[in-house]
Amino acid sequence: MNENSGLDFESAACPLPFQHTAQIVLGHGSGGKMSHDLVARLFVPSFDNPVLRAGDDAGVVELSIGERLAISTDSHVVWPLFFPGGDIGRLAICGTVNDVAVMGAEPKWITAGFILEEGLEVEILQRVIASMQTATAEAGIELIAGDTKVVQRGKADGLYINTTGIGIVRSGISPNGSRAEEGDIILLTGTIGDHGMAVVSARGDLGFTSSICSDTAPLNQMVRSALDAAGDGIHVMRDPTRGGLATTLNEIARQSGKGIVIEENMIPVKPPVRAACEMLGFDPLYVANEGKLVIFVRPHLAARTLAAVRACRYGEEAEIIGKVGNAPAGMVLMKTIFGSTRVVDMLAGEILPRIC
Ligand code: MG
Repeated sequence: MNENSGLDFESAACPLPFQHTAQIVLGHGSGGKMSHDLVARLFVPSFDNPVLRAGDDAGVVELSIGERLAISTDSHVVWPLFFPGGDIGRLAICGTVNDVAVMGAEPKWITAGFILEEGLEVEILQRVIASMQTATAEAGIELIAGDTKVVQRGKADGLYINTTGIGIVRSGISPNGSRAEEGDIILLTGTIGDHGMAVVSARGDLGFTSSICSDTAPLNQMVRSALDAAGDGIHVMRDPTRGGLATTLNEIARQSGKGIVIEENMIPVKPPVRAACEMLGFDPLYVANEGKLVIFVRPHLAARTLAAVRACRYGEEAEIIGKVGNAPAGMVLMKTIFGSTRVVDMLAGEILPRIC
């Protein structure tokens, strides 16, 4: 180093950053004091628990030998951030809780990584956090680790959230897509298309106001009730999110190598959702849901599983919509309301980007 450079290091030192409180600034993503302040002020009060409070690099949880963990991660980029019936925060919790639960697991812990855009109003972030707190409380899970990064203005649409969920799989239970069996009855736990059309409506794309609300909800209680009713007689559970019911059924048909037949007149669709779909040229079978399950169950356990689901919050409108069999392997057929039968294929492209 040239000792005669004449630089005055004392005055060149970075001054203490101005304490921003109303807006996210780049410093909030620094990993330094401002990051810690952000976490301490906004996140910890909502999710306080011993694991998070320990403040280490990872949340450590005890596990006894023989127990299985179900772990799922999902990034959420829905636009707009708030929509009727939900917001990106509720979605980020529920989507991951549901993905863990459908494996037959009791979701226990969740982590959240936030990408924040410079200029984001802190008030908006606070609303999202409050919504996440409500959803974690409802699901009975704890947020045990998190991260915040900040990108420059224009590099993100306000905020994105990645969540990772961890659950303990119920012993003796292993529902998965490959287990669909000839004769299995297929339950759908309520109306389809609500979430996708609620987001479309929030974007102003309907051209009129509607009563459509997203179905975003944690379904672990419903999964618990269904498993209590039918145990390992439940062969498959899945939440028909992006790509809709049609895509989920096709995934299961392909995974299991079985054919599936559904009946159009048994699939519940709310009238405003059907009307909005018709107006925009969408088929509700392909529109996203965030609070519904499909359940494949042994025929003799179908009635009691249906009753158990209908007794749950979010499951009141559950229906039997079809069964496994009487269709070519790997295919989904639908008996239409006109009495004909048609092939229901997987969603080919993307009809509604940024839906979750
Ligand atoms: Mg899923």
